[in-house]
Amino acid sequence: MSARGAVFLDRDGTLIEEVGYLDRVDRVRLFPWSVAAIRALNDANIPIVLITNQSGVARGFFTEAVVDDVHRHIGNLLAAGGAHLDAYYYCPHHRDGKIARYAIACDCRKPGRGLVDRAARDLNVDAARSFTVGDRWLDVALARNIGGRGILVRTGYGADEERRPADGLAADAVVNNLVEAASWILDTVGSD
Ligand SMILES: [Mg+2]
Ligand SMILES: [Zn+2]
Repeated sequence: MSARGAVFLDRDGTLIEEVGYLDRVDRVRLFPWSVAAIRALNDANIPIVLITNQSGVARGFFTEAVVDDVHRHIGNLLAAGGAHLDAYYYCPHHRDGKIARYAIACDCRKPGRGLVDRAARDLNVDAARSFTVGDRWLDVALARNIGGRGILVRTGYGADEERRPADGLAADAVVNNLVEAASWILDTVGSD
């Protein structure tokens, strides 16, 4: 049997509220529909992998330990509603960062596909059969780079992004929020 597709899920503005650089666990707010959306994908046995750019690490705004704490907290909030993410990956880099070891032009900052490739190996998923969900055009660009399908949500920066289409990029779907994205994915998988 060939490898399954996954959902590569953006964090800020998509799963949780966009609050700028998220430097404290107590600023994490799931959207009210996030647990139900993730649970619906869990119930369909579709792996869900968080993929997030966290250049605040390179910029010296917070440490990787804070990112790990935030992800553990998100996991706990989801678990309380019977939902889970299969894995969490982040890019701590930025070429203009001020912390030397993170100030590189990496291949894992979205829309680069480095994190997806790592996840695909770790979880045995097929990137080209996968979906991205996010509130920025770079999340849609990631889908193009992996040969998958990209969904733009209107939460976070998404409504503004929708009004400023990126050159040559079109989303496979533009939806109001993560729960609508989950429905679109389940419909699409069901009819493939
Ligand atoms: Mg985002
Ligand atoms: Zn990186």
